[in-house]
Amino acid sequence: MSYNNYPIIAVGASITSISFIRTLRSHGDKRKVLLINGEDRLPYKRTKINKNMVRGFDKDEFKIADEKWYSENNVDLIYDRVIDVDQEVKKIRTRNNVEYSYDKLLISTGAVSVIPQISGVEKKEIHGVQNAHDVERVLEKSGTKDRFLIIGGGVEGIETADQLIRKGKKVILASRMKLPLQKLFPPKISATLKDAMLQKGVEFLSGVSVSSIQHIDGAYKVNLQGQVYQFDVIVACTGAVPNIDLGKKAGLEVEHGIVVDEYMQTSNKDILAAGDVAQHARGVVTGLWHAAEHQGALAAYNILKKPQAHTLPPYRLKTEVFGLYLFSGAYEDVVPGVDTEVEEHHGAITRFLYYMDESLKAAVFVNDQERAKTYQKALMERWNKDKVEQELPLPPAMSFSLFSS
Ligand SMILES: Cc1cc2nc3c(=O)[nH]c(=O)nc-3n(C[C@H](O)[C@H](O)[C@H](O)COP(=O)(O)OP(=O)(O)OC[C@H]3O[C@@H](n4cnc5c(N)ncnc54)[C@H](O)[C@@H]3O)c2cc1C
Repeated sequence: MSYNNYPIIAVGASITSISFIRTLRSHGDKRKVLLINGEDRLPYKRTKINKNMVRGFDKDEFKIADEKWYSENNVDLIYDRVIDVDQEVKKIRTRNNVEYSYDKLLISTGAVSVIPQISGVEKKEIHGVQNAHDVERVLEKSGTKDRFLIIGGGVEGIETADQLIRKGKKVILASRMKLPLQKLFPPKISATLKDAMLQKGVEFLSGVSVSSIQHIDGAYKVNLQGQVYQFDVIVACTGAVPNIDLGKKAGLEVEHGIVVDEYMQTSNKDILAAGDVAQHARGVVTGLWHAAEHQGALAAYNILKKPQAHTLPPYRLKTEVFGLYLFSGAYEDVVPGVDTEVEEHHGAITRFLYYMDESLKAAVFVNDQERAKTYQKALMERWNKDKVEQELPLPPAMSFSLFSS
């Protein structure tokens, strides 16, 4: 067994660890980093993979950084998976049976998709969309198969349905929820999305839970709401949970995610955790790209001894599906009756703004894409109602002249 010593090791090569390294380097920290990549390609923008199924993508098309960036930044990027962490002797062990010791360890192992237990099919028959390899498998299937069952009416399910419909496939989307994206949008916007999906040909089955599927002669059958549906491929978009395996093995404090303080410190002083794997105050797990990027930077500030506290910036989600642009941004859950709701419409734009004590707490809208960054700023800076009305009027302020000068 070979053995190596590194001042800093990061497990999981994605936006959290890259942001961590970028922050170290931008503050002049030159310590060598071992970055352990559990996937088969350069770290990439995970957010792109399921949104680009129509045209497909090359292996490293969505890379976050060029290969040379790693060597230029004193990073040893290796392709392997960590299977054990021993916090007593500060060592990790990989699947290739190599041990590495660390002074500081960052666990940024992200999330793993939840593949539901369905009687009649084995889990390996159910596809996910958590990583590029998963999406490539779905794409490969779409080359020869026509009928897809997507389970899950959240963002990934809707985006995957949109892509497969655009590829000319037949799509059944089965969701436990009554309306698509109903956790992120008020019923009116979710209903607009549902109409758009139906118009494009998605068969949307709401309020259903797929618990049993028959597999006969290469095709699948499911009985839902008294009707039998047939399809060739099952894709589960049923959410993801923090990938806490290593946290457990290391004996760290683990609940839903690896528990961290506001400086991304775990229960061990030499181990940090950040990104989708981390659990913050009040049990919050973020699950979004920019949040992971932010936390990677905070983990770096911690070991740079320039600690900056995590303040849970507002989450925001943007997606373009079925001819609609949807935006949802908020600090926390909106509480009906406590938060003031302002609903406005102009042409194809519908928006809901929520205020708490006159300051903007949440903004959700359809089709006001050009001003998405301004809404984001309004949330970050907690604009008051007057400022929102002034800077983000509906209809947009326009000035024009009938006469050209
Ligand atoms: C299909 C899809 C679409 C998304 N779209 C959006 C979007 O539009 N907007 C948005 O804000 N967010 C989106 N997200 C969420 C966003 O991608 C994540 O929040 C973000 O990638 C989290 O970054 P991370 O660095 O914490 O972990 P990840 O990006 O999940 O990376 C973790 C890495 O660790 C590796 N790993 C795990 N265990 C080990 C191990 N033992 N050894 C070595 N490596 C290991 C994994 O293989 C993976 O490469 C999407 C996610 C998915 C799956």
